[in-house]
Amino acid sequence: MTIKTRITLIGIMAVGGLVFLLLGMMTTEFSRYRQQHLVVEELALISELSALVHELQKERGLSTGFLAAPEAGYRDSLLLQQAATDRKLNALRRAEGGLEARLQQELTTLRQRIMAGNGVYPEDYRQYSLLIQSLLDQVWSQIRQVDFAGLKDDLGAHSHLMFAKEYLGRVRATVNHCLRTAGVSREEKVAEAARLHGLFAEYRRLFQLDAGADWAERLDQVLGTPAAEEVFAVMQATAAGEFAPLQISSEQWFNQATRVINDLKKLEDRSLARLVNEGEQLLDNLRRRLLFFTLGTLGVGGGILLLVLYTLHGMIRSLDLLLAEIGQIGSQQDFGRRLPVRARDEMGTIASSFNRLLTIVERLLQEKDHLAGTDQLTGLNNRRRFKEFLDQELTRHRRVPEPLSLIIFDIDHFKLVNDTHGHETGDLVLREMAQLLRATIRRTDTPARWGGEEFLVLLPATTVEAAAGLAEKLRQAIAGHDFPNVGRLTASFGVAALLDGEHEESDLLRRVDQALYQAKQQGRNRAVSWSGA
Ligand code: GH3
Ligand code: MG
Ligand code: MG
Repeated sequence: MTIKTRITLIGIMAVGGLVFLLLGMMTTEFSRYRQQHLVVEELALISELSALVHELQKERGLSTGFLAAPEAGYRDSLLLQQAATDRKLNALRRAEGGLEARLQQELTTLRQRIMAGNGVYPEDYRQYSLLIQSLLDQVWSQIRQVDFAGLKDDLGAHSHLMFAKEYLGRVRATVNHCLRTAGVSREEKVAEAARLHGLFAEYRRLFQLDAGADWAERLDQVLGTPAAEEVFAVMQATAAGEFAPLQISSEQWFNQATRVINDLKKLEDRSLARLVNEGEQLLDNLRRRLLFFTLGTLGVGGGILLLVLYTLHGMIRSLDLLLAEIGQIGSQQDFGRRLPVRARDEMGTIASSFNRLLTIVERLLQEKDHLAGTDQLTGLNNRRRFKEFLDQELTRHRRVPEPLSLIIFDIDHFKLVNDTHGHETGDLVLREMAQLLRATIRRTDTPARWGGEEFLVLLPATTVEAAAGLAEKLRQAIAGHDFPNVGRLTASFGVAALLDGEHEESDLLRRVDQALYQAKQQGRNRAVSWSGA
């Protein structure tokens, strides 16, 4: 696997992992928020159920009174109450498991029977109580169903209050029936009143245990008013079967008991409002948390994502560029090229190190090239390099047909120098001759050692006449020069210029050689221009 593939894989894994992690964290946060949102909705449902229970309790009380004595005026109050119950029933926002429809159906049958005068006590009273019980059970299951994050105890207390109120409501109905059926056997109702009184007391106690001192005190206040105490006195008397001292009409009783129950309902509402408030505050906190978390996630996650992508993309791009450039340098053997150094990171260091190596390679190659074209003894161009220059000039001449001349010269009787003074002195003479040659020609002229004691000068943009002039000047310079150990020496010169239509270097070289030969022939120490002869 290439480094590029590995970097890409790492990038995909890092980005994927990050997205996975952040999504997981977001999901957890969001589900907590949703949970709490559900709680607030559940609280609203509990509040609606509680309002319905309250109206049903009043309807039960009035219905029980109607069963005892079905008077026309009483019937009107009952009908008004039934309408009030229906309003709450219709306002119930959610039908939990068909509860609403079942309630509606049973209530209709029950009401029809009672209003038609076919109602029976205590069956119909119990029927009402069962309906109310099913609503209270619904509240209870609602409370148990959801995780109410910290509200569980308060909600438990709240449901105890609802149950206490329900038993007080049943007492109201039972006593109401007793008072409206004076003289009829009451044993059964006395036992029921005693039982309900006990249940009321038990749920009051449970509320006081769960709700905390504050709310316990509030309940004591509600149940400590003179009106409430009178209601309790009637309850206790009924439970004890002592009806004789009761100087209270059924209307008085019902209104008084209802006042206490209404006060209890108000307390219940306040308790629920507090719960809703707490729930909404919690929801608010979670909403802020969720927002903060989402923004944080987007910010940090996005930042990391961009950094990872930027870094990996940069690495891959640098690698690609580096590889492409190195490949080109290798395939074209172009050591004058340099890698682009884009950043001051490790890739940049690699690129500039590679460039330094390229500089060394280039210099070595140039040195090698220089040595290959240079004569070791004199430092002049050698035959090979000279031929390259000549080739270049001939090519240029084809485009720009300027005159091009060539001078060749050969030291006269050089063998004698060697023979007389030794080979080493001969070498020194050759070096001295090269110095003399360099000092005499122009910078645009190209000198070379052709071999042995023969030298060449290439003269661009120079006519044969001008070349002959330079040859003469050189001849005089040599003839007038004192060579160390050897003294005076002479040389013979051949001069030739490129003819019109002449393209081969061998032709020019041949002709200049012929001129030199003539100079030797004519007695040496002279310059002869090629004349075509
Ligand atoms: P001519 O006037 O006809 O040119 O006579 P010459 O003696 O110069 O001619 P020839 O060709 O007979 O001799 C050239 C001599 O140059 C022979 C050779 O030993 C000598 N020579 C060639 N290359 C070198 C060199 O690199 N160093 C030295 N010391 N001598 C060299
Ligand atoms: Mg020679
Ligand atoms: Mg010679």
